[in-house]
Amino acid sequence: MNIWGMTQEELQTVLTPFRIPSFRAKQILHAMYQEHRTDFNEMTNLPKGLRAQLSETLAIERPSVLALRKSADGKTAKFLFEFSDGATVESVLMRQPYGNSICVSTQDGCNMGCAFCASTLHGLSRNLTRGEILAEAYAIDEFLQEQGEKIDTCVLIGTGEPLMNYENVVGFLRLMHEKETFGMSYRSFTLSTSGIVPGILRLAEEGLPISLSISLHAPSQELREKIMPIARKYALSDVIAAAKFYAEKTGRRVTYEYILIDGVNDRLEEARELVRLVSGQLANVNLIPLNPVVESGLKRPSQESIQAFSAYLSKHHIPVTVRKEMGTDINAACGQLRNAYREAR
Ligand code: SF4
Repeated sequence: MNIWGMTQEELQTVLTPFRIPSFRAKQILHAMYQEHRTDFNEMTNLPKGLRAQLSETLAIERPSVLALRKSADGKTAKFLFEFSDGATVESVLMRQPYGNSICVSTQDGCNMGCAFCASTLHGLSRNLTRGEILAEAYAIDEFLQEQGEKIDTCVLIGTGEPLMNYENVVGFLRLMHEKETFGMSYRSFTLSTSGIVPGILRLAEEGLPISLSISLHAPSQELREKIMPIARKYALSDVIAAAKFYAEKTGRRVTYEYILIDGVNDRLEEARELVRLVSGQLANVNLIPLNPVVESGLKRPSQESIQAFSAYLSKHHIPVTVRKEMGTDINAACGQLRNAYREAR
């Protein structure tokens, strides 16, 4: 049995047949999460006999790093992980001016079908467990520790739709918050969703003050349906109502992510509609110039179009940012490294 990703309570239950004092569970968690031990024999805080006993029935399994790409400026690193069943996911580290931000995946693949996304090309293989998501963060943390750094913020925006893996994602957030793992404040997390309305409403009631970002990508129902099939299930008006509810409930500003695609959603007509849609909300818009995926045939708009779109929003008092490109030398669109590996295999 793999104990990686367990809470103290769960480990205590697993250890019942060993008939050992309950403080041992705490010691094992400390060795596993604080000292980064993956071999019971290296847990010198445990008696020798117990180490051997634990090794016979339990394991601490974490994914292997299949690829690590570092940008020339040292600010961005992309990791490709493989789990024991062959599931592969990408994670990214970005050294931002405000700290080290990591981006983790929550599913092996995705079945949301967004037109611009490489992660959905082969569909969904499976959900990641909370321990597997935690393992992504740990591997990046170890990479940072070697350079005397640490993780400051975490975004759940990699491969997968986090709200379609709700229990594991919330379990991951709670684990990251525990002091025996990272002790990270909930305010350091952002969850990005394609607009799973019941999940947003549930998250609003969860009592976790994390930031929410919504992949909007189109200001009208009709256009959104064309680029995001999930829009047929959850209407734009319901997504906006859920976002407002989330902001009211948590007091956290919602970010609307808007991928700018040449000739699809980047005209002033769409900027006008977007202003109408977002005005008056506790929200801001993050414009993301498309990182093209060859298979989709979609293109990135010109710099002039991006600037014109952003300026229109600003002029109409919508807080707007344009995502800064980082690590362009390694920055294939999200999911392409994983796809290349899968195809080669
Ligand atoms: S953008 Fe996100 S939700 Fe959409 S297909 Fe890609 S991974 Fe899935």
